[in-house]
Amino acid sequence: MSIEYVPTICPYCSCGCGIYLVVRDGKIIGQEPWKEHPINEGTNCPKGKNAYEFLYSDDRLKMPLVRKNGALKETPWEEALDLISSQLKEATPESFGFIASCRNSNEDAYVMQKFTRVVMGTNNVEYCGRLCHSPAAAALIPAMGSGVMQTSQPEIELADCFFLAGVNMQETFPMITRRVLRAKARGAKVIYTDPRKTATARYLADIHLQLRSGTDAALINAMMSIILAEGLEDKEFIASKTAGFDELRDFLSKVDLKEAEEITGVPLEKIREAAMTYAKAERGCILYDQGMSQHYVGTDNVRAHANLALLCGHAGKPGSGINSMRGQINGEGSGDMGCLCVFYPGFKRVSEESAKFFEEAWGVSNLPTKPGFTYIDMLYKCPYLYIVGGDPMMAVPDVNNLKKTLEKANFIVVQDIFLTEIAKLAHVVLPAATWV
Ligand code: SF4
Repeated sequence: MSIEYVPTICPYCSCGCGIYLVVRDGKIIGQEPWKEHPINEGTNCPKGKNAYEFLYSDDRLKMPLVRKNGALKETPWEEALDLISSQLKEATPESFGFIASCRNSNEDAYVMQKFTRVVMGTNNVEYCGRLCHSPAAAALIPAMGSGVMQTSQPEIELADCFFLAGVNMQETFPMITRRVLRAKARGAKVIYTDPRKTATARYLADIHLQLRSGTDAALINAMMSIILAEGLEDKEFIASKTAGFDELRDFLSKVDLKEAEEITGVPLEKIREAAMTYAKAERGCILYDQGMSQHYVGTDNVRAHANLALLCGHAGKPGSGINSMRGQINGEGSGDMGCLCVFYPGFKRVSEESAKFFEEAWGVSNLPTKPGFTYIDMLYKCPYLYIVGGDPMMAVPDVNNLKKTLEKANFIVVQDIFLTEIAKLAHVVLPAATWV
């Protein structure tokens, strides 16, 4: 009997804790937290402890499935691959779309977008980050220059005020909660916005602003209005690091605090307490997630939070800034690698110049120069689809409508580890490998 400890990263959530898979005679029998890993420092959470068990599930796909007489049947690899190859030759650049996933490794994501651009000749490549993080990126790129986290996980605990927006941290990010608790032990305060009285509201928050869903921007505008009235804005930071402050001040001068109280449902005294606490902090750290951003007013919500951080000078120093918690393990990486219809790898915006750059780098010609379809458009407009590691049938609004469209599609390939809802609609399903 031989036992090996194989270092890797927990695949379950966006924290990315280091773990050792315990392998006995070639089979994974458990996992141990990676003692020296800077993210989890020798601990991990109950989800992570069991994150390897799905590898041996009886429901894992083991053979390609091909639709024959209306039903998916196990089929040899050669036959399935020949069918995919012959069908995709029928697709035009406009009729083909590729949907990657936040669960892909960087290397896989890079190959997927390269296949779409080089072989299929289109920028119709997206991933599920379009549904969750894009509303935030649309606000943060103009406001901050980038949509990425501004504070590393170890530096989070340097903050002396946390503003948790739409993230039930206590239950969903136990590893980061540990850092917030350490900061609290040194006197840090936690402000929390959520319509629900979650575990975070009960056990972690000092100030819970139980706002009506979707009223985050009204709440933040009221807070900024109070901060300006109290003269607590960071004047030096605003003068040296920001633009457009006069327009913001003019806008905030029209905010009616009584009306904000009515819109949000949060008592004005609580809004005031939160505003003063955040503005007076040395390092304010906004941590937000999909509860606030994956919403029809998500971009406005995130933009308001970015303005709040800039107004108080809580940006550009360790333990401060505005930070998306994301959700899945590689939400950032799949975007970095170019699985977006408007970006080549490295967030080089789709253009003739970017296409030329990658034509030289990859030794190819005729790369597409116009943006492709976004995630939802692709599902409705592309009759040839290749979908890896994600399930639009569980993610988009109005799945019944989507199902009707996909049932009429020319050819859908799904590559996944289980027979997901979208896989049940595919013409070919390929059994995928996992991260180990
Ligand atoms: S916090 Fe996330 S990455 Fe860390 S062990 Fe738990 S599930 Fe895995």
